[in-house]
Amino acid sequence: MNKLIHLFSLLSPFIVYSSNWYKGNTHVHTILCGHADSTPEVVAQWYHDYGYNFLILSEHNKFIDPSTVKLSGEIRDDFLLIPGEEVTGPVHSTAMNVTRLVPWEFKDKNRSKIVQWQIDETKKAGGITILNHPNAPIIRAAELFPVNDLYLFELYNAHPMTKNFGDAHRPSTSSLWNALLDKGMTIYGVASDDSHKFAKWDEKYDNPGRGWVMVFSDELSSDAITLAMNRGEFYSSSGVILKKVVVGKSQIEIEVDEEATARELTSKFLFGRSVKKGKPGTFVDFIGPGGEVEETISGIKASRIATQEYLRCMITHRIKKEDGLLREYYAWTQPVFTDGR
Ligand SMILES: [Zn+2]
Ligand SMILES: [Zn+2]
Repeated sequence: MNKLIHLFSLLSPFIVYSSNWYKGNTHVHTILCGHADSTPEVVAQWYHDYGYNFLILSEHNKFIDPSTVKLSGEIRDDFLLIPGEEVTGPVHSTAMNVTRLVPWEFKDKNRSKIVQWQIDETKKAGGITILNHPNAPIIRAAELFPVNDLYLFELYNAHPMTKNFGDAHRPSTSSLWNALLDKGMTIYGVASDDSHKFAKWDEKYDNPGRGWVMVFSDELSSDAITLAMNRGEFYSSSGVILKKVVVGKSQIEIEVDEEATARELTSKFLFGRSVKKGKPGTFVDFIGPGGEVEETISGIKASRIATQEYLRCMITHRIKKEDGLLREYYAWTQPVFTDGR
C-alpha cells in the first residue's frame, strides 16, 4: 500500500500527485530530553498505532538509534523510524536522516552563522536540516538571507508556545516564508508536532497528532523520504487532507479529500486554531510575491497559473463547533517557481 501514483515525464511539465501518500512527523520528544513524559518506545508506538508512516525521534542533542526502539504487538511494515536529532543552541533545527550524533556546542552572536553551522554539521553526518519553530525564539528573515543550503523550515509547529501566526512582537511564519521566497530562496514549509506529552491530554498541552507532512515518494525509506522533502515533494497539514495535487511548471491545482479531512477532524487530539470571525467552509488562497493573496476560491477544488516569480497555496477549512466557536484547519502546498530557481 501507499504506493505513490506519481506521473512524471521529462517531456511533461506536470507532476500529478494523487492518493496514498506517506504521512509523517519530523519532530517529537521523549524522556531522554528531561522534560517530556514518555519513552522512545511509547512515543514511536503512538505514531505507529495512529497510522503514521514515518517518524523522527528528534531528541535535543541526542541521537536515538532507531534499531534500539522496539515496538510491540503486530507491527505494520509501512512504518519507519528515520534517524534524527534536534540540534539546539539559540536556534533549533531537526537533523533529518543523520547516521550519528550531530554536535551542537557552536556558539556565536551571529545567528546566521549558527544556522549555517548546524546545516554544515548535519550534512557531514549524512542528513539535511529543517529549521525549527522560527518564532520561538524569533529568527528574522534577514538573518536567514546569508544562509546556504537551507530548504526546509517549520511553517507550522503545533507546540502551543510557538506563535506560528505571529503576535505584537513577531510576524507570522507565513510572512517569514514570503520574505525568504521574495529574496529568491528555495525553501519549503513543514508542519510538525514537537510534542512532549503522551500521558496527559488537553488542548493546552503539546500532545501529538496536530501537525504533519504528507510526502510523495516512490518508496518508504529514510533516503527516499528525505530526498523527496528536500525537493519540496510534500504538503503540510494541520487537519486538511488533499486528494489531488498537481504541480505544473507554473501551475498549482488541488482537490480536498472531504472524507479523509472529516475523518481527521474526528480526532480527539486535534483542536484546530480558534478564530473570532469568518464563515464556515473550505477556502483556497493562492499566494504570490509579497504575501499577496492573488485569488481566493471557495470550495474543495481550485487551480491557478502563476503570473509572477512564485505561487503557493493555502487551504483553510473552517468549522463551527458545537460550543459555537470557530476553528480552522489547514493544508499548505509548496510553491511553484517560474523564475528558474
Ligand atoms: Zn526546539
Ligand atoms: Zn523540539
